[in-house]
Amino acid sequence: MSEVVTQPVYNRIALIGLGLIASSMFWAIKRAGLAGEVTGYARSAETRETARRIGLCDRVCDTALEAVEGADLVVLCVPVGAMGPVAAEIAPGLMPGATVSDVGSVKRHVIEAVSPHIPEGVHFVPSHPLAGTEHSGPESGFAELFENRWSLLVPVEGTDPEAVARLRTLWEGMGANVDEMDADHHDLVLAVTSHAPHLIAYTMVGVADDLRRVTDSEVIKYSAAGFRDFTRIAASDPTMWRDVFLTNKDATLEILGRFTEELFALQRAIRTGDGDHLHAYFTRTRAIRRGIIQAGQDTAAPDFGRGAKKYRASK
Ligand code: NAP
Repeated sequence: MSEVVTQPVYNRIALIGLGLIASSMFWAIKRAGLAGEVTGYARSAETRETARRIGLCDRVCDTALEAVEGADLVVLCVPVGAMGPVAAEIAPGLMPGATVSDVGSVKRHVIEAVSPHIPEGVHFVPSHPLAGTEHSGPESGFAELFENRWSLLVPVEGTDPEAVARLRTLWEGMGANVDEMDADHHDLVLAVTSHAPHLIAYTMVGVADDLRRVTDSEVIKYSAAGFRDFTRIAASDPTMWRDVFLTNKDATLEILGRFTEELFALQRAIRTGDGDHLHAYFTRTRAIRRGIIQAGQDTAAPDFGRGAKKYRASK
């Protein structure tokens, strides 16, 4: 992990929205000394109060305009559906030469919603860290969240390469591996690896909840590892995931169509007793899991390696 950054990458970073991703960024930025100062803003007084209490951000501001004043990097850390309105709110306060980025889970929609508000002379470099937990809010963040995880940069055409390179240095300083990707490709890849799986988990837990009314509490009492993993995913933030599905509609529907076809094929194999089909299918999927472990994106620990350490800098 690249912890030894002697020079701050930015003088002042403004984090707009103070939830899981922003708070993890703050602790990772402080740990590695990546910014002179980090300001923060959240829309609710309650979140701003919590942030002040736990020392999240060097300065918590009461308005978004105050937070972005003098910032050479502004990162939008709000749900995807809120990116456009928030960009409109901060636009008048952006410093010439500053970079605006975001961490939204969908990229084409964010680019279309934010770009019109970016003033002349300000760079816009969208990003997406492929790291998260089912927890949200200002107290859920920790500096290690991005370690050895991918962060994808999705620069729009004509973006200043220096602004992109500087943002790359920041993510690398937070421990992430960085790659660049086109927005549409990003949205399709994420529909396969993240968005459709979340929808399937929500469905599975919903089905079990219906069943629970019949079997009383047995679904919870005897919940096996497979179901428990589904419930963990299905506990993810409802606002964030509502926005993901509403804004990555086409790619998600495309993948769900394919998923339904595969499910029907497995259903037929079960009905007709085609054990060879089932065995061959499960052998193929097992290899994918092994590939993920070999790529260092998870561990083979029974808890899927998610016993997260918590790091908070002493300020
Ligand atoms: P979070 O913990 O739920 O925090 C969201 C923040 O956004 C809160 O500070 C909230 O303010 C603010 N907010 C919510 N709705 C808003 C609105 N309509 N207008 C202005 N501010 C609003 O969320 P998160 O998990 O950090 O996610 C932030 C972004 O990162 C999302 O775009 C998400 O797609 C992306 N992302 C999430 C994950 C993940 O696993 N969680 C991973 C990668 C990327 P209040 O607290 O004042 O309500």
